[in-house]
Amino acid sequence: MKVLITGGAGFIGSHLAEKLLSMGEEVYVVDNLWTGKLSNVAHLTSDPNFHLVVDTILNESVMNELIFKVDQIYHLAAAVGVKIIMDHPVETLDVNVRGTEVVLRLANRFKKKVFIASTSEIYGKHKDHKLREDDNRVMGTVKKRRWAYACSKTLDEFLALAYHDEKKLPVVIGRLFNTVGPRQTGQYGMVLPNFVQSALLGKPIVVYGDGNQTRSFAHVSDVVEAIVKLMEIPEAEGEVFNIGNDQEISINELAQKVKEMTRSPSPIEHISYELAYGPGFEDMERRCPDISKLKAFIGYDPKYNIDMIIQDVIEYFKK
Ligand code: UDP
Repeated sequence: MKVLITGGAGFIGSHLAEKLLSMGEEVYVVDNLWTGKLSNVAHLTSDPNFHLVVDTILNESVMNELIFKVDQIYHLAAAVGVKIIMDHPVETLDVNVRGTEVVLRLANRFKKKVFIASTSEIYGKHKDHKLREDDNRVMGTVKKRRWAYACSKTLDEFLALAYHDEKKLPVVIGRLFNTVGPRQTGQYGMVLPNFVQSALLGKPIVVYGDGNQTRSFAHVSDVVEAIVKLMEIPEAEGEVFNIGNDQEISINELAQKVKEMTRSPSPIEHISYELAYGPGFEDMERRCPDISKLKAFIGYDPKYNIDMIIQDVIEYFKK
């Protein structure tokens, strides 16, 4: 089978490309290398089943040709990382809204099955329970830029479901929770690579806010496995799934664990959100997925717990 991965030179996309190649698929990647990197896929370029197109998903003629050629599309290209979203609000909205519109419209032209990578951000400010796919969304004010990302991804989901319901386009939507692992860079603000790099360099491990906010981290290989399995089963079409781990940890605990596991002398320091992200930022206090739907559909059983995840990231940065 031929597959297209948009954003395939990114952190998650490159792991997905690896996985699909290992399954014998022919993989086409389109990536404009905004946050994606050639080095993420350099080890794949000698594989005759791997093809890289450096271009934007907004280039419709290129996308038309690629989507015509392939059997399935994994749409991962997006503006990602809180820092990018805070610093580049126009590009964020443009790529996330218009880019997905292009992908879905062309996928529908040739009736090609699409996976849409969505995000846990779209749940917004819940804190009382593990997040379920049919929960309401609790968005902050438009004055807080962070929510533009959540809203852009929400629109992607609405559009994908609209194509499914109205045009019978096979789509599967996955809401990715905090995904971490080798090749993720700290450059765009993600917490674990930043903590590990600082710890290994003996620099302060910098926690934003009071550090009591929690997250649930999933290893990229567990996430990629779930994505591929969802695309294999027809029952997942037209459905939305949380993809992540439900083991929750506060950012303070995460900092402590990283410090211990690297045996680092680094101090753990706290700074305000304003200092970290500039004005107009609002954090989510808690974010943990209910993954019972994913378990019911594909028997999802993540292999990596938080200690194994941190260890893997440490090994990566040590190399
Ligand atoms: N965070 C932190 N220090 C950092 C980077 C992030 O304390 O160097 C915090 C951030 O404020 C958030 C959590 O860690 O509460 C997860 O941040 P990340 O950007 O990785 O993901 P997201 O906010 O999208 O969950």
